[in-house]
Amino acid sequence: MSPNNTFDAIILGAGISGMSAAMHCIKQGKSPLLIESTANIGGRARSFEDRVSGDIIDNGQHVMMGCYASFFELIKEIGMMHKIHKQKYLTIPFHFTNGEKDLLFAKGFAGLHGSIGMALGMLRLNFLNGKDKRSMLLFALRLKLGICRPGSMTAMEFLLSEAQSGRLIELIWTPVILATMNGKPEEVSAKVFVTVLRLAFFGSGDASSLYIPQCGLSELFEPFEAWMNERGGKMLRSMGVSTIDIEHNQVKGVTLQDGTKLFSSSVITAIPPHALQKIIPDALNHSYFSELGHINYSPIVSLYLWFDKEFPEIQLSAIMDTKTQWIFKKTTKMQSAKSLLALTISAGDEIVGNSTEEIANLCAEEVRQCFPEMRGANVIHWKVIKEKSATVLIDPDTEERRPNQKSPVDGLVIAGDWTNTGLPATLEGAALSGKIAASLI
Ligand SMILES: Cc1cc2nc3c(=O)[nH]c(=O)nc-3n(C[C@H](O)[C@H](O)[C@H](O)COP(=O)(O)OP(=O)(O)OC[C@H]3O[C@@H](n4cnc5c(N)ncnc54)[C@H](O)[C@@H]3O)c2cc1C
Repeated sequence: MSPNNTFDAIILGAGISGMSAAMHCIKQGKSPLLIESTANIGGRARSFEDRVSGDIIDNGQHVMMGCYASFFELIKEIGMMHKIHKQKYLTIPFHFTNGEKDLLFAKGFAGLHGSIGMALGMLRLNFLNGKDKRSMLLFALRLKLGICRPGSMTAMEFLLSEAQSGRLIELIWTPVILATMNGKPEEVSAKVFVTVLRLAFFGSGDASSLYIPQCGLSELFEPFEAWMNERGGKMLRSMGVSTIDIEHNQVKGVTLQDGTKLFSSSVITAIPPHALQKIIPDALNHSYFSELGHINYSPIVSLYLWFDKEFPEIQLSAIMDTKTQWIFKKTTKMQSAKSLLALTISAGDEIVGNSTEEIANLCAEEVRQCFPEMRGANVIHWKVIKEKSATVLIDPDTEERRPNQKSPVDGLVIAGDWTNTGLPATLEGAALSGKIAASLI
């Protein structure tokens, strides 16, 4: 603590947005204090040890894309890029329950890979017919030229208005929307979906390449505290903030759960909306804060399956006609296991109420159906993780009302993946919000 408990800036929450805000404050020459209520760093992107297998697993598989500029700025700064594997070109094997498979391989030619690679990758897909390929390419061209008008539509309304067939929506756009927006096409904002397509899938260079961490997420972010300390910043773990102190519409500092008062004329909150609502003084009767209660969340169900049989040499796969959406091959230390798979179900409202055992059985059966090599494989251990409030659901209404980082209180700035960045609630949205927040104090 500083002798008189006064800081250049106080940042609440050591998730991605808080770390990004702290990093950018330090780059501006400030010495911030970062306060985290739990013992961990990384917030909703964290890992822990599974006691039975001894394996480190994440609270849910996280994947990044080449267009994650603000997020990678953070990872590069703390020297952890070598822990993330980059696909050279977007490569996604598709597996169907009847055992059929296909491959999206977005390699271009003559060094042109971005949108050209993506267009060629789509043309090479066997499960789409010629008509679907033509309408998809025309849509991609309209996106590239910026002549699509998503307005306040849902992604589904928008895709139909762009003459995308039911098959294209089911097999191509729904998996993209679920993976990047954690919502269903009939729920999410078309405006944000168009941004995702422009930046990631039809962006330049390697924007669409997938990046997959090769270590637990907590290990990826762990060097951050030492990085901060070496540059004059400080971190306080296992201590929540109970109130933001405000006088005459100017932030004065915060009060910790143990009653300690800390002072600063610049406070950045980098915590989810429901957590922010609890620490805003009741007297602060401003619509900016009362809106927080109207934000909806969307769940992600993740599971880990340890099998007694080797899984094919595929690092990741999109599986189709199933509740499970993605499969990632992981390594395991468990002696009796031959393979470990991480599975994800985004926007999992229909399944989140099922028992963990039901979910494990259902998903294991889907793996066996999609990979004939796995038929007869037994699950020797499983772990289901339900993140009921995984991300906010960015529907057209929420997108219109997402708060800007600058709050109506002087010196109080709000970051978080849910704030207005124009991006979905992702690692990149979180990192960008932190960067914007730091630039506002
Ligand atoms: C299962 C799952 C899978 C996901 N997959 C992907 C993916 O593949 N790709 C992707 O880009 N994104 C993914 N995401 C989304 C991504 O994890 C989030 O967008 C991002 O981590 C949000 O970061 P944040 O800093 O905004 O918030 P958080 O991570 O929620 O951080 C907030 C922090 O504030 C702390 N806090 C709360 N209240 C207080 C208080 N009063 N005082 C002090 N500290 C407090 C919390 O403990 C927490 O550490 C996934 C999310 C989940 C849950």
